[in-house]
Amino acid sequence: CGIVGVTGNKNAVNILVHGLQKLEYRGYDSAGIYVTSDKGPDHLVKRTGTIDNLKKALTPEIKGTAGIGHTRWATNGVVNRANAHPQFSQDDRFYLVHNGVIENYKELRAKYLKGVKFTSQTDTEVVVQLVDHFVVKDGMTTKQAFLKTLGLVGQGSGYAFLLMDREEPDTLYLAKNKNPLLIGVGKDCNVVCSDSLAMLNVTHNFLELHDGEMVVVKPHSIHIQDKNGNPVHRKPFHINMDD
Ligand code: GLU
Repeated sequence: CGIVGVTGNKNAVNILVHGLQKLEYRGYDSAGIYVTSDKGPDHLVKRTGTIDNLKKALTPEIKGTAGIGHTRWATNGVVNRANAHPQFSQDDRFYLVHNGVIENYKELRAKYLKGVKFTSQTDTEVVVQLVDHFVVKDGMTTKQAFLKTLGLVGQGSGYAFLLMDREEPDTLYLAKNKNPLLIGVGKDCNVVCSDSLAMLNVTHNFLELHDGEMVVVKPHSIHIQDKNGNPVHRKPFHINMDD
């Protein structure tokens, strides 16, 4: 129900957790983060219940310079740790957080993902497994696979997606349809959030995203493209409000 992301900041864990706390007002039943860095191992931590439960599980060795986080309000699949986000692909390469509902996830699973090992009951897992399928089986780049997957997800579905590939540990891929998602422009660091409130401690400059656009965010770059693949140039707006 709430999404946060960061790249280019060695306090990624704190930024994600602080952001999730600021999004608690949206309601949720579970929370999780995935963090990674160029050097160290990556980490996936998920808990049902409050953000405090998640914080208790965050030992000092769990750190990174980029990551994604989520508060879940279950729509497909019961409330349990496996169904919390981030969801991941069967080879542990792709990690995805998602707000909304994928109306046609059963059809997509039956058509493309026979034989794939699922670990959750969520509609979201189908999306991350599809990206992996198109990369590993069809040889697409992550960006191509994400775009292809976005095209398959029924347009009746409202969604916000934030995706990471462990082979590109400084890169965030995102897209939205009807659900909110913003990019925060920081210094040597960029962030993503459902609501600017989540990231006012990092930046006051935000870029809005339109339905159908796809964005690739790195610590020093933000590339937005429209649904025809053309680059979009948009100026950030400034929010005058304290954290
Ligand atoms: N449909 C997804 C799920 O049930 C996402 C729910 C949400 O927006 O939090 O896991």
